[in-house]
Amino acid sequence: MSAEHNVVVVGGGFAGVGCVRRLARHDDVHVTLIDRNNYHQFQPLLYQVATSQLASSDIAYSLRKLFNDDHNVDVKLAEVVEIDPLTHTVTTGDGDHFTGDAVVLAAGSQPNFFRTAGADQHAFPLYSLDHAQRLRSRIISVFEEADRDPSLIDQGALNFVVIGGGPTGVELAGALADLIHDTMAGEFHELAVEAAQIHIVDLGHTLLGPFSDTAHDYVAKVLGRKGVRLHLGVAVTEIGAGHVTLADGTTIRTRCVVWGGGIKAPALAGAAGVPQGRGGRIDVLPDLTVDGMPGFYAIGDVANIASPDGATYPQLGSVALQSGVWAADNIVADFRGKQRKPFHYHDKGIMAMIGRGAAIAEVGAHRHELHGAIAFSAWLGVHAALMTGVRNRVDAFVSWGSDYFSKQRGPQVLDRSDAARIDWGEDSADEPAGVATP
Ligand SMILES: Cc1cc2nc3c(=O)[nH]c(=O)nc-3n(C[C@H](O)[C@H](O)[C@H](O)COP(=O)(O)OP(=O)(O)OC[C@H]3O[C@@H](n4cnc5c(N)ncnc54)[C@H](O)[C@@H]3O)c2cc1C
Repeated sequence: MSAEHNVVVVGGGFAGVGCVRRLARHDDVHVTLIDRNNYHQFQPLLYQVATSQLASSDIAYSLRKLFNDDHNVDVKLAEVVEIDPLTHTVTTGDGDHFTGDAVVLAAGSQPNFFRTAGADQHAFPLYSLDHAQRLRSRIISVFEEADRDPSLIDQGALNFVVIGGGPTGVELAGALADLIHDTMAGEFHELAVEAAQIHIVDLGHTLLGPFSDTAHDYVAKVLGRKGVRLHLGVAVTEIGAGHVTLADGTTIRTRCVVWGGGIKAPALAGAAGVPQGRGGRIDVLPDLTVDGMPGFYAIGDVANIASPDGATYPQLGSVALQSGVWAADNIVADFRGKQRKPFHYHDKGIMAMIGRGAAIAEVGAHRHELHGAIAFSAWLGVHAALMTGVRNRVDAFVSWGSDYFSKQRGPQVLDRSDAARIDWGEDSADEPAGVATP
């Protein structure tokens, strides 16, 4: 049967892929999926690429391959720069136009530096595969350079500062501690690897805010055991080429600052000219359309989706995936002349890994708590199940097994020369030691 309806989906993340997979079931619907990358990336495991636990290819999956068997799905590699929500037309950077009976914006998010001085120039964000590869190269290169010139340790060569104590910051800090203590310490025979320091800075007074108090204590204990230093309840005031300054006057010398401090909607959300709420995200109605613009949907991280308690759903992979499937069902309902339904989120819980063998999980809407090895096993199972492609799953399991039993990391590849290049003469901070407090 030839397609009677066209749908344009912008973004092949969890939300876009969830939506397209569901639409692909309908022979009378043709879908054009547009993404700036030709792959779907598994964001929750970016920190494992950054810390050399997984290879980039383990967490990226070709979009064409993903929809290989769906002849009603067309994948286009392009950057979308404009959206007209009334005519359902999107325009790409090359000037091509795609028009559908419905258009779905699933463009995710971008880092929010909250106007922190120097953050956009000097911090390494961790929200895409490109970011993870750059960060991996920076982490490895500071070790290589300190190995050649140990005097750089006094310039903070082995200090790592993670901004943000949410899941991104905590998971990265835990994995980085394992990489340093177990792998780098074994491989850099002449370097004083024990001089390395990891700092987490967060304005809030606890790590992993959305979790319970018991979980907060557990995380702080595990990270403390790994030697991670916490600066809680304090803001970052400036990030320089070789230092970070905190509001309490502390200066930490470093050449590797990781930004896990927050996200906001991408510029494309503003280009749509529709109502934007918190974080610049698009305010949607319960059926995931935008008020007064039938056939225009915003889903996943780019949308503010109201939850029954009056708040909005958090920016999570599970919310993105489920909202994508829901939008697809509403689009098809529209095509069939049926009622669209208000989004209902099935909350399966939240989890975070805090380095090898330690994790926390709060399962289901009632948040049944699991800590330690059992949560670690649950984390492995859930993440492997969510990954796309059998080969990626098998490769990830082999890497996790090897990491767990041999404590050796795999692809410590210094392949991003742009991030690996460090100018040691550039910084203006004058404190000689690694950390100076007032
Ligand atoms: C480090 C990290 C760890 C996380 N851990 C967890 C976790 O443990 N559990 C959990 O549930 N969630 C986690 N999340 C959140 C989760 O990954 C996101 O909520 C989810 O990826 C959002 O899905 P999305 O489809 O809305 O956006 P994305 O996954 O960001 O996908 C957006 C897509 O749109 C494309 N795109 C963007 N702009 C354009 C454009 N202009 N033109 C063309 N294409 C474009 C991008 O290339 C991308 O493919 C984590 C996020 C990060 C960054």
